[in-house]
Amino acid sequence: MPIPLLDLRALHDEIRSDLDGCWHEVTSRELYVGGPEVDRFEAAWAAYCSRRFGVGTANGTDALELVLRGLGIGPGDEVVVPANTFVATCEAVTSAGAVPVFADVDPVSLLLTGETLQPVITARTAAVIVVHLFGHVVDMADVGRVAGAAGLAVVEDAAQAHGARWAGRAVGSFGVASAFSFYPGKNLGALGDAGAVVTDDAALAARIRSIANHGRTPASHTEHAVDGRNSRLDSLQAAVLSAKLARLDRWNEARRQVAAWYRCHLPSGVELVEPLEASTPVHHLAVVRVPFRDEVRAALTEAGIGTGIHYPTPCHRQPAFARHARGALPAAETAAGEILSLPMFPHLTEAGVSAVARCLEGVAGLSGDGPR
Ligand SMILES: *Cc1c(COP(=O)(O)O)cnc(C)c1O
Repeated sequence: MPIPLLDLRALHDEIRSDLDGCWHEVTSRELYVGGPEVDRFEAAWAAYCSRRFGVGTANGTDALELVLRGLGIGPGDEVVVPANTFVATCEAVTSAGAVPVFADVDPVSLLLTGETLQPVITARTAAVIVVHLFGHVVDMADVGRVAGAAGLAVVEDAAQAHGARWAGRAVGSFGVASAFSFYPGKNLGALGDAGAVVTDDAALAARIRSIANHGRTPASHTEHAVDGRNSRLDSLQAAVLSAKLARLDRWNEARRQVAAWYRCHLPSGVELVEPLEASTPVHHLAVVRVPFRDEVRAALTEAGIGTGIHYPTPCHRQPAFARHARGALPAAETAAGEILSLPMFPHLTEAGVSAVARCLEGVAGLSGDGPR
């Protein structure tokens, strides 16, 4: 039996009648962008993240860019991002007109820390985008201390961490504003592109909502107060997200169980990249570090086991962003050559995990004597 990296069909089978209901409800109301489904999801999502305001967007990249624009960050400003993130984090910075500055990460957690943030701060740095990579949570006290001392706005990229917590407090509730993606493969995913911003700042939420809706204000549909754009959440996606939100905690719990099975079954020499102690992770990805990564990956592919690499090239080495690189970032660069994402999804069984582990056990070289 092949084991995919991510199985969305099992998840959608579980809620198929709810999904049919969403379709029915939205098509009978004839309101496809905005409307009560969007209002309801925005409020529910903000509450889930312990925040006052939620603003739906077209995707997670836009959500990040809109936060920066809403904060007035743009040309002349620098924004720090970790080097080992999805390129969307960098794109959001350049789309806002600012300059991305890459920080290295902790060599073990692969997350941004105060120590890796500090050396890249300059007089132009306006903000830092903290990325809760793999569904693991950044030490917000540590990064917050360094950012606070430098007067930086902290923005969370929580696209991989829906429902995660740091010291009991919800991810998304730490930054001045936080961005989520609901791309189908995320822990909370729509049936297409979708995203959201959450914040406690009423004025910031209103600015973001206005920019994302052609610069309109609640006062007028035909007056365009600012030079905005279109990045809104669809009613159908909002309805689907509300239906799935009711299951998110259970699905995240199932992911933690899958991670526990990996810890128990993985052969020695293959270790999961582990979340930090004080966090409640949501295991968006199950990432291991292995020598001879490409050979290991090929063996798993051969056995019908889906894998991924998140991400094979750090952002500062990508052609699109290399001009912003300011030197080597050894932890991010070393990790990029060793990381491998194993199957991870709520409906993965212990038998599936043990099959992945057995396959890894059969790959020679993991014990240190080179690939077969
Ligand atoms: C998915 C993702 C994004 C972008 O979200 P989209 O909805 O695909 O635009 C941003 N940052 C990270 C870390 C992501 O994983």
